[in-house]
Amino acid sequence: MKVSKLYAPTLKESPSDADVLSYQMLVRAGMIRKLSSGTYSYLPLGYRVIRKIEQIVREEMDAIDSQESLLPILLPAELWKESGRWEKFGPEMFRLKDRNTREYCLGPTHEEAFTDLIKNELSSYKQLPLSIYQIQNKYRDEIRPRFGLIRGKEFIMKDAYTFDRDEASLKESYAKMWEAYDRVFERCGLKVMVAEGDSGAMGGSASHEFIAFSEVGETRLVFCPACDYASTDESAVVKLAYAIEEDAMEVEKVHTPKVTTIEDLEKFFKIEGHRFAKSLVYKVLDTIVVAMIPGNRNVNEIKLINHLGVAEHDMQLASDDDIKSVLGSIPGFVGPMLSEEVLTNDKVRLLVDSRITQIPNLIVGANERDYHLKGVQYGRDFTGEVVEDLLMVEEHDVCPTCGKPLAIDYGNEVGNIFQLGDKYSRSLHATFLDENGKENYFVMGSYGIGISRTLAAIVDQHSNDRGIVWPDSVTPYGVMVTVVNTKDAAQAELGESIYTLLKDEGIDVLLDDRKMAAGKKFADADLFGIPYRITVGRKAKEGIVEVKDRHLDEMVDVDVQDVVALIK
Ligand code: ATP
Ligand code: MG
Ligand code: MG
Ligand code: MG
Repeated sequence: MKVSKLYAPTLKESPSDADVLSYQMLVRAGMIRKLSSGTYSYLPLGYRVIRKIEQIVREEMDAIDSQESLLPILLPAELWKESGRWEKFGPEMFRLKDRNTREYCLGPTHEEAFTDLIKNELSSYKQLPLSIYQIQNKYRDEIRPRFGLIRGKEFIMKDAYTFDRDEASLKESYAKMWEAYDRVFERCGLKVMVAEGDSGAMGGSASHEFIAFSEVGETRLVFCPACDYASTDESAVVKLAYAIEEDAMEVEKVHTPKVTTIEDLEKFFKIEGHRFAKSLVYKVLDTIVVAMIPGNRNVNEIKLINHLGVAEHDMQLASDDDIKSVLGSIPGFVGPMLSEEVLTNDKVRLLVDSRITQIPNLIVGANERDYHLKGVQYGRDFTGEVVEDLLMVEEHDVCPTCGKPLAIDYGNEVGNIFQLGDKYSRSLHATFLDENGKENYFVMGSYGIGISRTLAAIVDQHSNDRGIVWPDSVTPYGVMVTVVNTKDAAQAELGESIYTLLKDEGIDVLLDDRKMAAGKKFADADLFGIPYRITVGRKAKEGIVEVKDRHLDEMVDVDVQDVVALIK
């Protein structure tokens, strides 16, 4: 491809809304553009990387006999009503109606659709296990889309589903998928850690998350350097939700304002005579849950989330002072301690946690939009003991598995695997006959990889201050040839001939043949991040070019004769 024809509008400066490095880099390199909040267009270079990631995923799925298919994105509401998730998915689901007022959603995930696909035709134990997947856009009305491709409203996901005859067989399918995920991320050049996951909205028993390390990651990883214990904050929260005793209680349901501004939040906290609790998810009776989580350390935020882990109210607090003023406005709550310390979110979490046992009377979420419960009592109506330990895990706390000190790191969830059991097969009546002619529910697994988020995670792990340096496996082009001065016939000709030579060798090559200042061309080459760069300059007459391996940041003079051998 010649850069003179390439559509890759590069930018000198970062766009003003770029809240994270990977997003800045991709926009500046002319690889992606935002269309609206949470939706992005992939330009030619960016889309080549997407296709490479997809291809790696395809190869690894195919290698474990998972079969590619493609289901509709437009999914009928009936399916979701059968599984119970039409209600449960909450505001994260994009819903729409056709001209006959029939209800649909844009698929946020496809457990129901795949279960429906196989349910009447996969009928015998002899056909099991079955593993099937697709690569497709997914739609989630995220409460706050952010960090570019990390959290979009529309994003590309690979989702796979397995159907097994029993738990033992599911565990085998799960292990195979896990290994395939390890290979996918390794081939993409991503350093990941596998952590015990949050089965959240998916339901089911075991799950694991693949977290790509990132200084600006949204996920807090608690792990043990001495053994393989690793967990995420989220999973700790979910454990709590199920650990709570379901005692009876006398509480009052009150209408509370929708929280969209700091003032709303203050009003909410000030509901007369009561105090708001605090940092964790608590399940009170069957339907009642409250949470207020000081968010991750990147964006100071406080979240009120329901029992699905779906944020119902979400505040962005710009500074530690904002946090102080919000928490400080809770009557009799954190008060004086706040002024003594500079608060990080983690400190807020600790402070709040350490006080939960002392607060007799609380307001908690009622798991119903804009309603809360007054007069809930800690100890009587719920306890947090099981999880307080887990959630307060800090560096140097003791590993629950081996007793050695724990460590903390941050990252982004790029993949997630779930053992679902028969949750969906049961609700959608998907069964097979075993060797005794007995009807059984399929035992299912589901497995996601965020393709577009993986792109961002790669950029995050493979950038320096000048630009991206793509791993060879996903780079949009293998080699970039820059002709310094296109008016110089020797340079122009040599550039062309190297371009043809490499193309004939089957190497994807970009030739910067533009008639413009060399400085701009070098800057663009830095931004594009092609791992091998060949610069055709003054020594063209002697048949010498400069070759730079950006992984090593090394530049060498090379005779044209040797270029192909060196690159291959
Ligand atoms: P998160 O915890 O970040 O909200 P999730 O647990 O809700 O993600 P899953 O339902 O497990 O996501 O979906 C599988 C994968 O899809 C995730 O591991 C992630 O890589 C990707 N993904 C999920 N939500 C988004 C999003 N809004 N934008 C981009 N990728 C996403
Ligand atoms: Mg999510
Ligand atoms: Mg998650
Ligand atoms: Mg997940």
